[in-house]
Amino acid sequence: MSDELNKQTLWTGDYYNQGTGPNDIFDTLKEECGVFGVYGHSEAASLSYYGLHALQHRGEESAGLCVSDRNQFHYHRGMGLVKEVFDKDTLGSLTGDISIGHVRYSTSGDSRLTNAQPLVFRYRAGELALATNGNIVNAPQIRRELEEAGSIFQTTSDTEVVAHLIARSNKPLVEAAKDAFRQIVGGFAFMIMTNEQLIVASDPNGLRPITMGRLGEAYIFASETCALETIGAELVRDVQPGELLILDQHGLIEDRYIEPQRKALCSMEYIYFARPDSDMNGANLHAARKRMGSVMAQESFIDADLVTGVPDSSISAAIGFAEQTGIPYELGMIKNKYTGRTFIQPSQELREQGVKMKLSAVRRVVEGKRVVMIDDSIVRGTTSRRIVNMLRDAGATEVHVRITSPPFKNPCFYGIDTPDRRELIASTMSIEEMRKELNADSLTFLSFEGLIKAVGGDNSTDYKGGMCMACFDNDYPTQTDFGGEEQFGCGC
Ligand code: SF4
Repeated sequence: MSDELNKQTLWTGDYYNQGTGPNDIFDTLKEECGVFGVYGHSEAASLSYYGLHALQHRGEESAGLCVSDRNQFHYHRGMGLVKEVFDKDTLGSLTGDISIGHVRYSTSGDSRLTNAQPLVFRYRAGELALATNGNIVNAPQIRRELEEAGSIFQTTSDTEVVAHLIARSNKPLVEAAKDAFRQIVGGFAFMIMTNEQLIVASDPNGLRPITMGRLGEAYIFASETCALETIGAELVRDVQPGELLILDQHGLIEDRYIEPQRKALCSMEYIYFARPDSDMNGANLHAARKRMGSVMAQESFIDADLVTGVPDSSISAAIGFAEQTGIPYELGMIKNKYTGRTFIQPSQELREQGVKMKLSAVRRVVEGKRVVMIDDSIVRGTTSRRIVNMLRDAGATEVHVRITSPPFKNPCFYGIDTPDRRELIASTMSIEEMRKELNADSLTFLSFEGLIKAVGGDNSTDYKGGMCMACFDNDYPTQTDFGGEEQFGCGC
């Protein structure tokens, strides 16, 4: 291969199947980040390795781990998957019993190592490490004010904004952290570590998930319960909105920096992001997704020969739809598990074919059949159209699309990378126009009430069943207007 060709085809610095930017060939929403913390276990680094591995689906671009031996930090961060970033020697050097770890997804072009977390700083009171999942909507405004006052930032991550707010305070760490969290607006699960202390906080609405477990005498924190399960830890409870938990030589101190606002956990965690073996708000996600399929079947039954779900996130819902209707569930599509990150820039033709890198229709299953295709959401509509056409190309005589969420019309301010509102197909087209665009025989979406019912929320007592649904109904649980300086997507 010539040098010329090498230059054209090798990695240019962007990944081509990540995110919702112009380079994305799969047109999916991207998870934000995952965090994992340990307090009081001599094998903190090893536990974190397995915990982060269980959270890998929440971020594939970088991973990092900072461990304290109570005198000093040992840390390592790198670009890539957890198994690529850490090896036996690296993990062996991360000694100590307190740790915070992170897996990160970032938008294309912003995947620099300097933004990989945990971020580690030295300030007046010693060492400080921070890791977060989510987005601070007013981070650009606070950053500008801090820079005007002389602060110099090392990263573009808004996690560093919190580090600066803490460092500039003359109060003890816990009080400084509380002041900082009261100034920021957004959806976040935060972990802050010093040589002897671990602080875990949730945003006032509990938008991003964070859960607490025990492993023997140790405390474990993770974005999802599947990470607790992986290391054999026992779930204690979810960290509550506005809570600030402190772990130090006195044990666990359950404190808060603000009274809880309306509980509004991201509904897309239930629908799509989180692993089906995780529990959120007491509900198992596989079971909740099955109920979404079941409620969907009650709301918009269609006679067909088989039901299939877009793997992996829609399989549970497809099983629920099949159980409710009696229409057999079939493996109509197969996912290629090894697509991973693509370094080779696809041609336009390959980009059009992109979905086939990830999914294949099973011709022998769908040929000559009326198919109900269950999917979790429609973003731009390009992937859904390709999947419908792929099923038709494989011989399906009818394709009926059932989406287990309401139409996705608005961008996210709280850590999910979404395209501009104008690119969201549901914000510009009616359902009938979308059906035609997707080349589907019919198209329906789960109702708001159906979604609340499926996750076990109580709409009479909980605000929207305890969920944020802003990307569906444009009703954001926080202030989002900061004079044009507000930040969308993921700010980790
Ligand atoms: S706007 Fe949508 S994606 Fe963002 S936190 Fe709310 S429900 Fe989740």
